[in-house]
Amino acid sequence: MLRRALLAGSCAFLASPALAKTAPKPVHHPVSRPKIIALDPGHGGPDPGALGVSGTQEKGVVIRVARELQAQLQLGGKYKVMLTRAGDTFVPLRERVARAQEAKADLFLSIHADSHPDPYVRGASVYTLSEEASDREAAALAARENRADSVVAKMVAQPDAVAKTLVAMTQRGTGNDSRRLADTIVNTFGKGGIRLLPHTHREAGFAVLTSPDIPACLVELGYLSNPQDEKLLTVYQHQMALARSLRGSVDAYFSQSAATKKA
Ligand SMILES: [Zn+2]
Repeated sequence: MLRRALLAGSCAFLASPALAKTAPKPVHHPVSRPKIIALDPGHGGPDPGALGVSGTQEKGVVIRVARELQAQLQLGGKYKVMLTRAGDTFVPLRERVARAQEAKADLFLSIHADSHPDPYVRGASVYTLSEEASDREAAALAARENRADSVVAKMVAQPDAVAKTLVAMTQRGTGNDSRRLADTIVNTFGKGGIRLLPHTHREAGFAVLTSPDIPACLVELGYLSNPQDEKLLTVYQHQMALARSLRGSVDAYFSQSAATKKA
């Protein structure tokens, strides 16, 4: 908000008729710095995440998609990308949030693959932070993902920062940006032929989405408990297609943001 006010202020300054007459100097447009994207491949180390019917581990699938997305985003120099975990290591959820904050990320994308007792359930889904879950399944998913920290025995449950974060997010407009990002991902996945879960944008109290300043979404790329989804998630072409769609979502999100600022 402050940034928008400053921008509006500087435009008014340049447009001043008094200055226009006496200002032969060229107008320097601010050089836009690359946007910083935090990619958060879920789980890692002793925590394999969801397990596929044929034994595929979530932690392996999501880091491959994250690395592919990192490569695609970095082409063209518009983005700088940091990963919250670079290898097969355990990083606590709070540390993931801290790493993104330290990097001053403009966007946070947590990447996962889900599992469901019903093997017919398949498709990708997108989640944003909420104190109250949109439905029972989203609540159960958040509980499962938040348990990642307790996989390492000495970790204690983190205090619930969701309510506090939501207040700060509302004040800073981060909540709206996160929801807009989620809608953009749903649209781009739809256009890219990525199968989606019905009512795919859902909300719940995900610990890894609790950075008040960074618009954030958690994406479940599909269900490892569904044999077709599991197969697809291990195929390189499909991992590339997912990364391509996510890159398209990031592009669309920032071009919308730029359009809103100009308007
Ligand atoms: Zn997960």
